[in-house]
Amino acid sequence: MCRTETAAKSRRVERVNMIPLSIPNFEGNEEKYALDAVREGWVSTGGAYIGRMEEMLARFLNAPQTAACQSGTAALHLALRECGVEAGDLVIVPTLTFIAAVNPVRYQGADPVFMDCDDSLCMDPVKLRAFCEEECEWDGECLRDKRDRRRVRAIVVVHVFGNLADMEAIMSVAEEFGLPVIEDATEALGSRFTAGKYAGMQAGTIGAFGAYSFNGNKIITTGGGGAVTARDRKACEHIRYLSTQAKDDELFYIHREIGFNYRMTNLQAAVGVAQMEMLPEFLRRKEQNYRYYREAFAGCETCELLPFRPGTAPNYWFYSLLLYPGGSAPDLRGIIAALRERGVQTRPVWGLIHEQKPYAGMTAYRINAARDYAARILNIPCSTQLTKEEILYVADAVREVLSGDRFFT
Ligand SMILES: *Cc1c(COP(=O)(O)O)cnc(C)c1O
Repeated sequence: MCRTETAAKSRRVERVNMIPLSIPNFEGNEEKYALDAVREGWVSTGGAYIGRMEEMLARFLNAPQTAACQSGTAALHLALRECGVEAGDLVIVPTLTFIAAVNPVRYQGADPVFMDCDDSLCMDPVKLRAFCEEECEWDGECLRDKRDRRRVRAIVVVHVFGNLADMEAIMSVAEEFGLPVIEDATEALGSRFTAGKYAGMQAGTIGAFGAYSFNGNKIITTGGGGAVTARDRKACEHIRYLSTQAKDDELFYIHREIGFNYRMTNLQAAVGVAQMEMLPEFLRRKEQNYRYYREAFAGCETCELLPFRPGTAPNYWFYSLLLYPGGSAPDLRGIIAALRERGVQTRPVWGLIHEQKPYAGMTAYRINAARDYAARILNIPCSTQLTKEEILYVADAVREVLSGDRFFT
């Protein structure tokens, strides 16, 4: 402890700026392409960068097609809509996630059923199966909740912090009960399986639909933006149609369906193309920085750097520390404030969605692990610009703050 503490102190003297949690990286052609889009006058939902973005993404994912849209939230909404989720339906979702994974269920007038997580922080497939088997029944056409006879229409699986969910187990439940899976891969662009049934497959390309986000904090960004992919090429084409106001005739403006203004703009896509060029480098740095953290936290008794699922090559998007594993709940607020004083920005995971006001009273199925993880996870700086020195500084600061019993209640 003495050695790292002195090291931290000497480094702290030099530190003037805050080490942010996660900031975008524009080291590539972002300015050049954005300027090009502006100069050419193609800034809105027409322009060559949009198609290029969609193609680059499809090639990267090895997916038949992608549809670029305004946000990850819009991507999820379009996927649910294409899936046929209607008012009164139920959709199985995780409770430990960002609320944008769940809100689109309500946009469709359906209600979520909240599921617990396993030790990967992603949906627990054992509880998922138990819910489908014990709480629901098959009526010959679809799965219904026994209590209110409502139709269970789909499952939204989130690959939390870039860590892949147990897709083999989840897909086997989904196939058995006839439920389409929407993968919320908004945090997991670039994560893929390296072993098992889905070896070589990218996050978002295993279920019926995959949603991506290019918000400012994601592994690549277009400011705001997202994309959908679908295993069925026609479904993806229809999603693109819905995202552009369901326009059947470009000249006379004829519409057969109610669409959305969800299409990505060329200005966003210009930045997106540049970011796609950088993606392999971002993935490399995220992994390298994860290794530095792992070395720096090795043998630490007050916290554990959470591992990613074996048999996968994750994108290492976010790094999570489990605080005082096996101990009582940490004072997260105190710890975050103490780290802020030392120039390190950190944050907890999200408030569990089933406990949020708009979702009060909705079905939450045997939630347990999610509560414990939410109480003791701290996310630490993960930007691709981090230097090794900054990583060592963060690790020293965390170790120092957690030592003693100040924040151990
Ligand atoms: C970021 C995120 C979204 C939403 O993406 P936006 O582009 O911000 O709309 C949805 N789900 C999860 C899990 C996310 O992290």
